[in-house]
Amino acid sequence: MERKYFLKTMATLPLISHDMTLNALKNITDGFFNTKKMPVLFIGHGHPMNALFDNNFTQKLLSIGKQIEKPNAIMVISAHWETRGTFVSVNNQPKTIYDFGGFDKRLFDIKYEPKGHPALAQEVIELAKDFYVKGDHSMGLDHGAWTILKYLFPKVDVPVFQLSIDYTQPAEYHFQLANKLKKLREKGVLIIGSGNIVHNLSILDWRNIDAKPQEWAVEFDELVKSRLNKQDFSSLIKYEQFGKLAQMAIPTNDHYLPMIYTLGLVEKRETVKYLFEGIQYGTISMRCYEIS
Ligand code: ZN
Repeated sequence: MERKYFLKTMATLPLISHDMTLNALKNITDGFFNTKKMPVLFIGHGHPMNALFDNNFTQKLLSIGKQIEKPNAIMVISAHWETRGTFVSVNNQPKTIYDFGGFDKRLFDIKYEPKGHPALAQEVIELAKDFYVKGDHSMGLDHGAWTILKYLFPKVDVPVFQLSIDYTQPAEYHFQLANKLKKLREKGVLIIGSGNIVHNLSILDWRNIDAKPQEWAVEFDELVKSRLNKQDFSSLIKYEQFGKLAQMAIPTNDHYLPMIYTLGLVEKRETVKYLFEGIQYGTISMRCYEIS
């Protein structure tokens, strides 16, 4: 708009007070930063070897990435960054972390090193003030993040940062913390919970990714699906009530809690849409969904 025309337009607004005009302008500039609300993803990441495989799961990740509007940044809550207290990575250049041993050497040749986004990570600290989230300057990307991002965003052109999981806190705490972070979605942040709904490494068949799914694993995966459909999040937070079945599916809750974060981010009238369903190695649920 030409300055002359702009001034003329302003002059035709005699009923709008000076303060109201300034507020209106401020809202416009805020609008440049806010984007359409980003969806939330939960991805079952499974075995790190998926980073090398071409299977129905990795193909699905590739297609999911193509359908998502390019975010300003991605925040991953991964099962593999557990801490005492909650931390958010404010690292400008996160490095690939090979947080596993004994697997195929080719895994160690994969590099996934996008930029970080300290400014948006700082927003986490502001939004969740009551939770005393601290900035971490050295955290890279663990395999819960990069083994899935290499398919979702293969161009490595979106900044990524991680939020840790405080292992000393109950599931309810993680749900409430996520609740405070809803505004990030309006700032163009794609939030991804990366874990597995059923994850029992002590009784899985490492030799066969297509092993017949064990009945209890299918039963618990389906049970969670039915609660997600009803948006009965409180029962999923109190998962211990499912007794023996929950003990089998969640012997430790590190892979389950990333799902709890995604539930804390659900807004009114949003629904859970399944992107992938399946069990690898007989006992690892690869269920993935989108909340939008
Ligand atoms: Zn894992």
